[in-house]
Amino acid sequence: MERRRFIVKAGGALVAAGAAVAVEAPNVIAQPKIQWRMPTSWTPALDILLGGARRFAEAVEQMSGGRMKIQVYAAGELIPAFGVWDAISQGTVECYNSASYYWAGKEPATQWFTTVPFGLNAQGTNAWLFYGGGLKLWEETYAPFNMIPRPSGSTGVQMGGWFRKKINSLSDYKGLKMRIPGLGGKVVAKAGGTVVLTPGGEIYTALERGVIDASEWVGPYDDMKLGLHQTARYYYYPGWHEPGTTGEFVFSRKAFESLPADIKHMVEAATVYAGQTTLFEYEAKNGTALNELRTKFKSRVDILPFPIDLLHALKKLAHEVNEEEAAKSPIARKVNESYTTFQKYSPTRSCRAR
Ligand code: CA
Repeated sequence: MERRRFIVKAGGALVAAGAAVAVEAPNVIAQPKIQWRMPTSWTPALDILLGGARRFAEAVEQMSGGRMKIQVYAAGELIPAFGVWDAISQGTVECYNSASYYWAGKEPATQWFTTVPFGLNAQGTNAWLFYGGGLKLWEETYAPFNMIPRPSGSTGVQMGGWFRKKINSLSDYKGLKMRIPGLGGKVVAKAGGTVVLTPGGEIYTALERGVIDASEWVGPYDDMKLGLHQTARYYYYPGWHEPGTTGEFVFSRKAFESLPADIKHMVEAATVYAGQTTLFEYEAKNGTALNELRTKFKSRVDILPFPIDLLHALKKLAHEVNEEEAAKSPIARKVNESYTTFQKYSPTRSCRAR
């Protein structure tokens, strides 16, 4: 009895029988899949960030009818939180989800794509990235590393962070050991603080044990998920250092370029979908969490604004830091110029301490 036969071409498409490679029909019902692995820098408690990565993966799988499957990993499951950049460059994985300002040591320009102290909010950052040349510069920055970046969604404006002692003036930063990344971290260092870069999943222990005196993460929802409200009394706002923090999906150029054209479009669309819904989820959940801090934890948490004079002083330092960091590489200079010019004319500029 003759069984129906199919041919599998190199790209995985089925054609009529009669050529070199033939397989039995039952074997081709499950189509060949493109399998990618996506480590992230997010500990499992960070369910909005990790959820964004999973929404991205699910969208690609569903749009492609199962032709492409991306396995998402929390920090440490496959790769340590800050090992994801090297994992792509070494060819261990095809993509990752993290934040570009963690890679300042690789290239100073990476810092601008996450957020800039006293810079643009989520709306303004998206405007710069998608319609103001920001994403093109981001691609240019990552091109020498054979990586392709896409924004993975904004957290919205962040909170200023958790402090064991009150911060009244710039001099209170002297000797303060704080977890704070990116350009904002360099501002705190310039103010006399000692800056450490701790992955999200390790902040609670560091703050609780007094290894650090202060830490910022994101905002009420995430911060409570990490337990930070149980480690320090003073919760300051606004997050002058991170007014519109945007994450990144990063693809290995080789892996991305080997995708069929239609799946490339699905991957592109899924990044925007997952990115936008991440911002919406933060906006929705931060309000509820902030209210919980104000009521349920009223006796142990003080929610305070940074003094306006302090914000003025920090803004001055932030300007100096931007100029210093921009001078470190030709692409950083170009990115800073683009961002600064865009912000100057943006209707959505935020966090202006005048
Ligand atoms: Ca942060």
